[in-house]
Amino acid sequence: MLTPAQAESLIEQHLTCMPIESLPLTQAAGAVLRENIYAERDHPPFDRVAMDGVALLASGAASNAGRLRVVGTQNAGDPPQTLSDPDACIEIMTGAMLPSGCDAVVPVEQIQRNGAIAELGRKAVQQWQNVHRRGSDCRQGELLLTAGTRLFAPEVAIAAGAGMARVRVSAQPMIVVISTGNELVEPGELIEPHQVRRSNAYGITAALRQHGFARVADDHVRDDEAALEERLRFHLRTHDVLILSGGVSMGKLDLVPKVLERLGVNLVFHHVAQRPGKPMWFGVAQSGSAVFALPGNPVSTLVCLSRYVLPALRAAMGQSPGEARRIALTAPVDVKAPLAFYMPVKLKNDDWGRTSAEPKPTNGSGDFTALAGTEGFVELPPGPNTFPKGFVAPFFRW
Ligand code: AMP
Ligand code: MG
Repeated sequence: MLTPAQAESLIEQHLTCMPIESLPLTQAAGAVLRENIYAERDHPPFDRVAMDGVALLASGAASNAGRLRVVGTQNAGDPPQTLSDPDACIEIMTGAMLPSGCDAVVPVEQIQRNGAIAELGRKAVQQWQNVHRRGSDCRQGELLLTAGTRLFAPEVAIAAGAGMARVRVSAQPMIVVISTGNELVEPGELIEPHQVRRSNAYGITAALRQHGFARVADDHVRDDEAALEERLRFHLRTHDVLILSGGVSMGKLDLVPKVLERLGVNLVFHHVAQRPGKPMWFGVAQSGSAVFALPGNPVSTLVCLSRYVLPALRAAMGQSPGEARRIALTAPVDVKAPLAFYMPVKLKNDDWGRTSAEPKPTNGSGDFTALAGTEGFVELPPGPNTFPKGFVAPFFRW
């Protein structure tokens, strides 16, 4: 059986990168950049006045004992004036270009106005005080954002600052989440004692949305071979990624692998040496659509989603993968089976800012209520073994 690392690498080898599309910047939040973005100009583009006040020559203020004539006003957005007289100053606003002939700004709070005279008091004026010097943040042509970066608020602002009205980003994959099972009932609908809520589809969809995937459809299919074949054929034609839950184990009505293979989806692997989530199935359709068929037990579903599906989707969007963060356990964990073991954890921060992982065991792979308040899980090597407090393991976030 494959190890998790082997399964992960097989998925990686079979995935194709999403095509590039150009989006108006207003629609680009959450998208993954597929081009580098360079500074359009120096930042700031000119010596930028950083306070409302008066602009002056520092040496002029010193030789006039802090009494200067106000000879003009310059607002932000005005072309720069010129101060030719060191005994004078120009009333100035935050964001304005420093007038030529000036090298400092005294803020309005430190000034007394007597008619046309500005009295600056005794405080010495330092050259370049309250001036944000041209190019002090970055230079024209400097690399600001690299391809593979996800665009959050600061990155969108940076792209706007670089003059980009549109950006080239990864197209969103068309994803469908498909639950299977006769026993499943939608939240909000009446439920019989022998039925269970269709919770996996909601968990999967929530994780996808939270990770920036916006084109997510949802379907449910009963454990009926003909219905499954018909629905899966349709979804394989219309979606880039299919995420199924349930129907991949050994039961008589676990029909998913059989039907997928009949539809020409090439099996890449079935089963990974892990607990929970051993029956996971992965394949690629002739059309190129990726099919993740996750075991139906709710903890298995979410673990497999975070361990394999989300990283694969991020890679398909062109995001650089990065190593999983490694975090130490706050308590020992017993691993009985010779399978990689996923232990849900709650992250704790100590007084020194170090993060550790508090194990939050479940009552098995059906017990998803135990996941409340956990941030993800750690992956422990196959047992039998007891991993002591302080053992460092890779952490995966939900
Ligand atoms: P299966 O993999 O189809 O054998 O399902 C394993 C267990 O997970 C069964 O107890 C199912 O009722 C449960 N299950 C399957 N799919 C879901 C779902 N979408 N939401 C909640 N539980 C599910
Ligand atoms: Mg089932």
